[in-house]
Amino acid sequence: MGLMTGKRGIIFGLANDKSIAWGIAQQLRGAGAELAFTYLNEALEKRVRPLAESLDSNIILPCDVQDEEQMVAVFDTLKQQWGQIDFVVHAVAFANREDLKKPFSETRLDGFQLALDVSAYSLISMTRCALPVLKEGGSIVTMTYLGAVRSVPQYNVMGVAKAALEASVRYLAAELGEKGIRVNAVSAGPIKTLAASGISNFKEKLRVAEERAPLGRLVSQNEVGKATLYLVSDLASGVTGEIHYVDGGFSTAAG
Ligand code: NAD
Repeated sequence: MGLMTGKRGIIFGLANDKSIAWGIAQQLRGAGAELAFTYLNEALEKRVRPLAESLDSNIILPCDVQDEEQMVAVFDTLKQQWGQIDFVVHAVAFANREDLKKPFSETRLDGFQLALDVSAYSLISMTRCALPVLKEGGSIVTMTYLGAVRSVPQYNVMGVAKAALEASVRYLAAELGEKGIRVNAVSAGPIKTLAASGISNFKEKLRVAEERAPLGRLVSQNEVGKATLYLVSDLASGVTGEIHYVDGGFSTAAG
């Protein structure tokens, strides 16, 4: 019997085998969870489907989080196939590459709205769509970064989006506590992924993290996966509204 045996849930944000979502999926499946996945577009489906199938998943659906109809359709399918679910993992973010390069004050409304929509608002809409199928005692976990609470060079509008995401975690946790639903975030240290490749001078972030992180090294997708496993599992039954740092907080969370 694994920690997650008998539990079912969905992971948004798998793109390839470098994705943080992949580290999470492997840990959750390894602990016995049954998983569903979404992919952003057809190009990514080709990568996501074989990965999902290798973890015995047969619910693999398209979902652009900017399209609420698609999100509703995803949870309708889960309702039909499984009735109820135990957890939702939100590992989705996007900002225009130029907005992660230019001076922050050059951020325009369209780029600001795009980053906030995909990376923060989507947690709210996803939660709303999930609620009819999410069990009492269910868990929602999202992914954030230190740039939410500090000005990290070049993280720019994504830092503002992550700040909105972290505040949304607290408001959702406060609202859903009475339903026994927990909402938390994992704040991961920098990891080389597709999304990270859009951040200017990402190598420098890796170098600084390695130098300053208490463990004196970078963290892996699997380590983020293990922290997420804890948060979705009953081990964290009393934990909600938390930003859980995986070595990204340089030992003093926000400070
Ligand atoms: P990734 O590129 O593997 O994953 C990002 C995912 O977001 C992709 O699967 C992409 O398809 C999806 N996505 C983008 N726009 C979307 C949309 N409109 N609808 C649906 N999906 C969309 O990169 P990752 O680093 O694994 O990112 C996962 C999460 O982890 C993100 O929230 C990211 O900000 C966060 N995070 C990453 C790092 C890091 O250093 N890599 C550190 C802390 C937090």
